[in-house]
Amino acid sequence: MERKMPPPPQKETAVTPLEEGILEISMPPVGFISYLVPGSERAALIDTGMGVGSLRSEVEKLTSLPVFVINTHGHPDHAGGNAEFEETYIAPEEYDVFQRMATLEFRKDDISRMPGGKELAEKLQPTPPLPKPLSDGQVFDLGGRTLRIIYAPGHTHGSIAILDEGSGTLFTGDNAMSRNTSMHEWNSATISQYRATLERLKALHPKKLLCGHRPNVSGPEVLDRHLKIMNRILSGEKGEERTLRGGAVGFVLEEEGSTFDYTPEHLG
Ligand SMILES: [Zn+2]
Repeated sequence: MERKMPPPPQKETAVTPLEEGILEISMPPVGFISYLVPGSERAALIDTGMGVGSLRSEVEKLTSLPVFVINTHGHPDHAGGNAEFEETYIAPEEYDVFQRMATLEFRKDDISRMPGGKELAEKLQPTPPLPKPLSDGQVFDLGGRTLRIIYAPGHTHGSIAILDEGSGTLFTGDNAMSRNTSMHEWNSATISQYRATLERLKALHPKKLLCGHRPNVSGPEVLDRHLKIMNRILSGEKGEERTLRGGAVGFVLEEEGSTFDYTPEHLG
């Protein structure tokens, strides 16, 4: 039987220029992804990875503009590097996730279980302070570029998406990922809340989606795939029973190569 080998741990931070001046920053050991979005006056950094080493020094190599952080959600691999930045934002509905999971202690434990993660646990940034609250519809003017916050409960109950209004690029965090999206943790929203989120995101007519894990660049068709899956679940289809990452027993459904997993407490 053929067995898939996991990819080797990523050793160095890698920067990839995307369209519209957006820079993808991918961090060790498994490619945690942040996006640097510059305007003419300031730049937004969307997510800060796990907080291994100094993301700020990487960012300062890329821009001389003042930088502030927007977290798509409070998971350790998205808000872990916040402590290096003075101005940070997250939805207040996500404060509980952030306070439990972005701490140094939680991240140490989490990264130690990743390939190549043990030695990186000593390089983690400290527990970050609580970010400022975002509100639904809030707009950030970066100078010649505006970012709009869209509340997007799904993967977590306080997740947000961010629309770059000029280019139609939608940053979806860990929602609507092209490979697999999960709603199997205590902090996930419900299936009907996620369906409503997908409908809101689709109504924005985004041209491109950038999510938090590889493969991280996709088209808006990924929203349709996820909507189809939510409709299947809400019309009674359970999906295939599996043991999910973290050990919980849940269900998996697939649509054109995109998968979605959930545990039954998120039905409804
Ligand atoms: Zn997440």
